[in-house]
Amino acid sequence: MPKHRDIIKISRYILSIDQGTTSSRAVILDHSGRPIGLGQKEFKQYFPANGLVVHDTNEIWQSTLSSCKTAMNKAGVVAKEVTCIGITNQRETTIVWDRKTGEPIHPAIVWQDRRTADYCNSLRKKYAKKIQVKTGLELDPYFSATKLRWLLENIPKARKKAEAGQLAFGTVDTYLLWKLTAGKSHYTDATNASRTMLFNIETQEWDPELLNLFDIPKEVLPEVKDCGADYGETDSSILGNSITVSGMIGDQQAAAFGQCCFESGEAKSTYGTGGFLLLNTGKSIVYSSNRLLSTVCYRLDGCTSYAIEGSIFMAGATIQWLRDKLGLIENAAASELLARESNDDSSVYLVPAFTGLGAPYWNPDARASIHGMTRDTGVKELVAAGLMSTVYQTKDLIDAIVSDGALLSALRVDGGLTNNNYFNEKLADILNHEIHRPVITETTALGAAYVAGLQAGIFTSLDAIAKNWQLDQRFIPSKGKAWRDKQYTGWKLAVKKTIS
Ligand code: ADP
Repeated sequence: MPKHRDIIKISRYILSIDQGTTSSRAVILDHSGRPIGLGQKEFKQYFPANGLVVHDTNEIWQSTLSSCKTAMNKAGVVAKEVTCIGITNQRETTIVWDRKTGEPIHPAIVWQDRRTADYCNSLRKKYAKKIQVKTGLELDPYFSATKLRWLLENIPKARKKAEAGQLAFGTVDTYLLWKLTAGKSHYTDATNASRTMLFNIETQEWDPELLNLFDIPKEVLPEVKDCGADYGETDSSILGNSITVSGMIGDQQAAAFGQCCFESGEAKSTYGTGGFLLLNTGKSIVYSSNRLLSTVCYRLDGCTSYAIEGSIFMAGATIQWLRDKLGLIENAAASELLARESNDDSSVYLVPAFTGLGAPYWNPDARASIHGMTRDTGVKELVAAGLMSTVYQTKDLIDAIVSDGALLSALRVDGGLTNNNYFNEKLADILNHEIHRPVITETTALGAAYVAGLQAGIFTSLDAIAKNWQLDQRFIPSKGKAWRDKQYTGWKLAVKKTIS
């Protein structure tokens, strides 16, 4: 065991890489988990045709690298002072590259890309149930398996090369790791693997039957490790010194880890453009009858904790719509004051089905609508209805999770929308549950740093990490059952009308 003095000396800073869908970010954290330097760079989204979304892998890499350098500069930290790196990433996005040259055979196919929708439909009847049982996922183009199959089918010689072991597949975590280690490491972690639709979440292995179904040669697959593991060292030419990569974890799981959702029943909900709710279900896999996803929450020392996950397509994006398309507010923050001046018993509902409705309705053809307007409905009521739509959608998810047999003990929130206290208060009121917002809301980067720091010995245990979680504000339910029921019944009716 190193002496305490040595630990302080070697455990200095953590570099957390957060590679997202629209921007790459990097954060330097000190050994207590406090962020001290941030770099961020947006990159381009490409939409080559209807339903197709791709990223330039070089832009992913360059924006990540420049964010790392900016974060280190801002923090005044050089590479040799960085003990370890944690990587978190947009999940499911699929990349295949040549092992020898490192060149991708095609741009990254982003999780939003729908090119394999027909193929998924053709499998649905026969395989959807089997796939749910093995992977916890819905048979959908969203996940990596059919994207990877598409690449092997459609890029000339790809299948042959893959079978000969010349190609590597990875989600963004794996690709960044490959680049950082100059081709030495080809690994992923259990959370990212659990989003590929090729990984059996019960056995924690690539599933031979699914590899067969999707016609994926095992030679292309990365080895799956715990979230905290020895992932190799960065090439010293990249950041100025070689640094150990000791953590990898998908973005929503990282946010749950950063929110210290370590016990069964603890949930986090992140409200950015969309909303993502993840509830820790402990050692048991809770399979959903409401088409929510069962997924790996984290895996440490070979022990897997599971989660159930639901998403909201339009959360903060509804506020953007009120701002940009209706011009009702000058900026997102202005929504709070207006909503506070609206009538609390308003029966105006905005159902934001702009791109269909997700869980638990799963109606891709539904379109947005506003219900219950009267002569005295004005801007305030519409803005309040916009904020309330995310509150009600969260209630839909929680109700679905509870009916699937999981229990909610704590709900911790983060993301841009939670700057709005009207939203947080109403969330507590409608759910009839306390809502907790932490001081550090940069939870995704924090989660990756915690995972990496745990592995590197900077943090000694999950309990020690949980002590870092600090409450910024608690929102306590203040409304009675009659109000709750009336408001939520109105929402259900509005959704019913929207769908019909
Ligand atoms: P992302 O990471 O998806 O870009 P962020 O966590 O940065 O999202 O949150 C941005 C979203 O939050 C935007 O859609 C914006 O409309 C919304 N938002 C930010 N601040 C507020 C606020 N005070 N009130 C309501 N919505 C807000």
